[in-house]
Amino acid sequence: MLTITGATRIVIDENTERVGDLVLDGGVVVAGGIPNDGSASSSINEILDASGCVVTPGLVNAHHHLFQSAFRTMPGTRGVPMAQWLPTMAAAYADAGITPEVAAAAALVGTAEGLLSGVTTVADHHLAWPSGSDTVAIARAVTDAARSLGGRLVFVRGSARDDPQEAAASAEAIVSALLPGIHGGISADGMLQLAVGPAGVHSDSRETFELLGEVAARHGLRRRTQANEQVDVVIALERYGRRPLDLLEDWGWLAPDVTIAHLCAVTDDEIVRLAASGISATHAPGCDLPMGWGIAPVMALRAADIAVGLGTSGGGSNDAGHLLADARLAMQVAPLVGPPLDARDAIAMATAGSAAGLGRPELGHLRAGAAADVCIWDVSGVADAGVADPVAGLLWASPGRRPRHVIVAGRVVVRDYQLVDADEADITAHLHALVGR
Ligand SMILES: [Zn+2]
Repeated sequence: MLTITGATRIVIDENTERVGDLVLDGGVVVAGGIPNDGSASSSINEILDASGCVVTPGLVNAHHHLFQSAFRTMPGTRGVPMAQWLPTMAAAYADAGITPEVAAAAALVGTAEGLLSGVTTVADHHLAWPSGSDTVAIARAVTDAARSLGGRLVFVRGSARDDPQEAAASAEAIVSALLPGIHGGISADGMLQLAVGPAGVHSDSRETFELLGEVAARHGLRRRTQANEQVDVVIALERYGRRPLDLLEDWGWLAPDVTIAHLCAVTDDEIVRLAASGISATHAPGCDLPMGWGIAPVMALRAADIAVGLGTSGGGSNDAGHLLADARLAMQVAPLVGPPLDARDAIAMATAGSAAGLGRPELGHLRAGAAADVCIWDVSGVADAGVADPVAGLLWASPGRRPRHVIVAGRVVVRDYQLVDADEADITAHLHALVGR
């Protein structure tokens, strides 16, 4: 049992905040404080002092490419068209080797960076799968890396121009190896989820979407893809004479089990169709802005009752996996494409909104029975002095802030700004030894 005491404010969910204590037991949030009837799973009650701190649900990064953490700010990838970005990144991948070892090192870096900045669950849309490679070994390397640090992982067997049959066979093999005998795509302890996801209609054929969709249906997996990055619209028009969402609809990928990242420059008509389809969305402004793709109209999407989560996307475009920073960015840029986005709504996107797209109702809030994934943000320093609203201040004040403590499934994984299960310097040195950066 773990009791968080004395918090300045506890954000339970989008509509509820309170002060006082928060009790975690058996990996979940306990209602009404410390049970005194002997029902606690452990007689040991650790106390975590949260005075001067705001407590929030753990952040859920709904769209990342962890592998790209090894390839940040590569020369030739900034301010360039996608047609130049893709081969530059591909050459860098080939140079380093798309191996389980590099994938694990990059995933350790990305997961550690996430945990240290409050991301307790990350969805890794992995897109680098050399033909003929041991894809189960790559997937296992990534999932083991996340587990070793105590973070929750949603591993998405992506595809980017993969052979459709090979991609589907690989997805099937990964599910059999990592979640044997499980329907629904989530491990019993909730620490690993598997999903499938072609990179988009600009890269993958109808056959890939259909075959990966069949794997998802067979195992009850969520489906994820990307759409309406500006290049996606251009290529869809050139190749098919259609808009990306028209193609996704034809290919059976506008449905409630699908989450679509990016969604820049969607039209009013498309928003109506998206809402009717039941899809969820992931906003990724930290990627879309530097890549020049535009700004997704998040307020219009939310107004249409579409669940909108938040993702950083990967190190090839964003370079940081700091989801709270991107929640701040989302709030700052929203007025350029519609009504302003409230700080609490941006935090809700980075928690419950992302969790909704993953089909994980136990994540992204701190109501009784929720997964005990918690961030404790110290707001007692000068960067927060003078702040009237400590919850809004999480975004408005102190850009780049990190949580003092992070808890996943009731276990402290970051304590006093340090990883509990690994040494940050070792993780950094290991990647450096492999790729020279
Ligand atoms: Zn992306």
